[in-house]
Amino acid sequence: MIESKVAAVILAAGGSTRFGEAKQLLEWDGRPLVAHIADLAWSAGLTPVTVVVGAEAERVIPALEGRPCQVLRNYRWQEGLSSSLSVGLAALPPSIEAAVFLPVDQPCLTPQFLQALAARWRSGDADIIIPTYRGQRSGPVLFARSLFPALAQLSGDVGGRALFATHADRLATLPVTDPRLLADVDTPEAYAELRAQTAQRDPAETLRAIRAVICDMDGVLWRGKQVLPGFREFFELLQKRDLRYTLVTNNASRTPEQYVEKLALLGVTTSVEHVLNSALAAADYLAENAAPGTLVYPVGGEGVHAALRARGFQLSTGDEADYVVVGWSPETTWYDMAKATLLIRNGATFIGTNPDRTFPSERGLVPGAGSQLALLEAATDVPPLVVGKPEPILYQQALARMDASPAETLVIGDRLDTDILGGLRQGLHTALLLSGIQRRDELARSPIHPELVFDDLAELVRVWESGD
Ligand SMILES: [Mg+2]
Repeated sequence: MIESKVAAVILAAGGSTRFGEAKQLLEWDGRPLVAHIADLAWSAGLTPVTVVVGAEAERVIPALEGRPCQVLRNYRWQEGLSSSLSVGLAALPPSIEAAVFLPVDQPCLTPQFLQALAARWRSGDADIIIPTYRGQRSGPVLFARSLFPALAQLSGDVGGRALFATHADRLATLPVTDPRLLADVDTPEAYAELRAQTAQRDPAETLRAIRAVICDMDGVLWRGKQVLPGFREFFELLQKRDLRYTLVTNNASRTPEQYVEKLALLGVTTSVEHVLNSALAAADYLAENAAPGTLVYPVGGEGVHAALRARGFQLSTGDEADYVVVGWSPETTWYDMAKATLLIRNGATFIGTNPDRTFPSERGLVPGAGSQLALLEAATDVPPLVVGKPEPILYQQALARMDASPAETLVIGDRLDTDILGGLRQGLHTALLLSGIQRRDELARSPIHPELVFDDLAELVRVWESGD
C-alpha cells in the first residue's frame, strides 16, 4: 500500500510581541517549542517537514539543529504570514499531494491527530481540512496541492483562511472533543496554564483506555540472560485485565516456538499466537500478496526458513525465485548475497525482515540485518521493503491478530527509533521503558517523544494498577 505523500509546513517566522522572548523558543517538554512542533510532524509521518523561520532566525535555526526537517529562511517575514506561505510552498517537492500548515504555537497536538487530518483528506474529496472545536475553526489546516497556487498568491498578513470563503465547496472539517488538543499559546497566561495542565496529566488515565498491548521483548522482559523487574507482575496484569497482547521482536533469527519455550522456563505460559517476530511478519505479508507454493529465496537463519515454510512457501536454493527474503544470519556468505543480487536484478521482490543496522555484542556494535540489506541495496540499486519496526507491517499484523484498534493499543518498548517511532507512526499509544537501551537524558535530545515513560515494567504495572 503506497499512501499519497503529505508534507508539513511549520510557520515559525513571526515576531512575538506578547512574550518577553521569541515564542518559537519557549520551552515545551524540555525543548524549544519550534523543535517540539517539528518533532510532532515528523513522528506523525508527515514528510518532508519544512520549517519557515524569520524573526529571531539566528536563534531559532540552532534550536532545530540535528532534527529531521529542512529549515527555510523567510527574509521578508515582516511582510506577513503570506510571505512565509510562499517560501514554504516553493520548497515542496512535486510528489507532494497535500500539506499540513502548522502554526508554531499549538503544543498539545498529537501525531494521531495529524494522521487523522491526513486520513480525512485521503478518504474524501475535500481539498481543505479544518479542525474545529464546538464549531470554531482552528489550525493546523491541510491544503491539497490544487490549492497551492492560490495559497502562494496571497499577500500581506493573511494565511490560508483567506481561501476558506472562496473555496467553501471544497472544505471539510475535523471536529475534536478535547479542547486542549487545539489550544494555542497566545499569551503568557495561556502558556503557563497549558504547561500546568500538561504537567498534571495522569498516565493512569491513558492506560485505562488500553485493551491491547504490543510488547517488545529484549530490554523490556529481559536483558541478555537477566529477567527484568516487573516481568511476572506484567503477565499477571495482562491476565487479570483480560488484555490482548502480542510479544514482538525485530529479531528474525529465532522462531516463536523458541520464545514460548523461553517464557515457559521463566514461569510464564503463553502460546505462539502471542509471539510475532519480523520473519513471521514477513511470511504473513507474503502470504497476503503471493499464492502458496510461490518460490522464495531465504537469506537468513532458521527463523526466516521456518516462517516461510510454515506459510506454505517453496524455498529456493537461489537459482530462481519470485521473492528474496533477507534476515540476519552470521552464516550468510558472499555467495548467498551474490545469488540474492542476481535474483533481485532479475526482478524478484526484495523483502527485508528488519532494518536494524547493528546490534550490541560484548565487544561493541556489530552488523545486523540492516547492514545486509544495505549491501544488497548497493549491489542492486533496489531498496528493500522492510517489515520490522519502525515500519508499519509488523504493527499492522499485530493489530490484526488482536482485532484491536490503534486508539486502544499500547506499544511498550525500550528503543525510541524502532518501538516508539513505529508506534507513533501507526497512531498507537506508546510507553518507553528505560530498562533497556535508552537512557533518560537521551529523551530531551531525541525528536521522538513517547507518550509515557517508565523505569521498567514494574513501574508501568504499578501505575496501571493505581488507576483503579
Ligand atoms: Mg528492545
